Amino acid sequence: MKKYNFNPGPSVLPEITLKKTAEAILDLNGSGLSILEISHRSKDFEAILKESKDLLRELLDIPSGYSILFLQGGASLQFAMIPYCFLNKKAAYLDSGSWASKAIKEAKMVGDVQVVGSSKEQNYTFIPKNYTIPADADYFHITTNNTIYGTELKTDLSSPVPLLADASSDILSRPMDVSKYALIYGGAQKNLGPAGVAFAIVKDSMLEKIVKPVPTMLNYKIHVENDSLYNTPPCVAIYSCLQTLKWLKDLGGLKAIHKINLEKAGLLYSEIERNKLFMSPITVAEDRSIMNVVFVFKPEYKELEEKFLEVAKAKGLVGIKGHRSVGGFRASIYNAMPLDGVKALVQAMKEFESQV
Ligand code: PMP
Repeated sequence: MKKYNFNPGPSVLPEITLKKTAEAILDLNGSGLSILEISHRSKDFEAILKESKDLLRELLDIPSGYSILFLQGGASLQFAMIPYCFLNKKAAYLDSGSWASKAIKEAKMVGDVQVVGSSKEQNYTFIPKNYTIPADADYFHITTNNTIYGTELKTDLSSPVPLLADASSDILSRPMDVSKYALIYGGAQKNLGPAGVAFAIVKDSMLEKIVKPVPTMLNYKIHVENDSLYNTPPCVAIYSCLQTLKWLKDLGGLKAIHKINLEKAGLLYSEIERNKLFMSPITVAEDRSIMNVVFVFKPEYKELEEKFLEVAKAKGLVGIKGHRSVGGFRASIYNAMPLDGVKALVQAMKEFESQV
């Protein structure tokens, strides 16, 4: 049976990424060696790293004056790297979800943090707005897509201080104005590749702000100076990212994928609105994520939750159980989720409704 993988991350990858990675694990480009075996300082890997950076730069239209890094430790390690490197006096954070609050927790260990807005009291059902970014902050940190709650900041903000964004779960889902950010970072395991590698797009002028002693591996400057090769990088994970980037380019780039993403999300949200059983917990419609579509049963149908999960599983719809802090369902419809997967889920929702 065809399965559709709606897991939030690690998550669905393009089939070509899986195929090419599998081939390279057995034999990289006819070299007789596996991508798992070659030196990270070999010509072969140098070319893979360069092409990955070049393609990411091209797809996101990253201007000059920015460096691209492939790191380890996930987005979570960068929660700590950011304040170690850039928090000198005070940092401003937007608390729009659990991942944002984890980033805040790390920053508080390093220095003064001002949370400019929070939707925590409302279980993060919207993105906080109408806040003031303090002009004396070293930086302002946001989370562009809140994977657990299914809210997304879909525009590139203007900030009077350097804007830093955790874009783990919506990177490459739409064109972005990179020039508005001083740092865009995240784990790769949603739209980019497998777990084990994280990315960072850092404005070079930010590196001058690293004035305190910082443990070597937490220092963005060290990673930029060493072109992501200060220590052994996750070669195979980077190779997989490259395959996804090539797939995305062949598909027509970010404008093309954004159109498809809007269509997929539109289809699913329309069904949530139409179907008598379901509702969206996201109170502000414009904040609804096009990557993680969270929905719940209306209170009167809540006892049907387990039943719907069983039905979905039987139809090959995998990973739609919502996060424990929200309940209900979450369909993660990242770039690699085909439109047919969303159609299959919508069909299952319709059928379920007709049987109630
Ligand atoms: N930020 C966001 C928005 C996430 O969705 C996640 C993981 N789901 C993280 C950070 C943490 O990423 P990692 O597991 O790579 O540390």
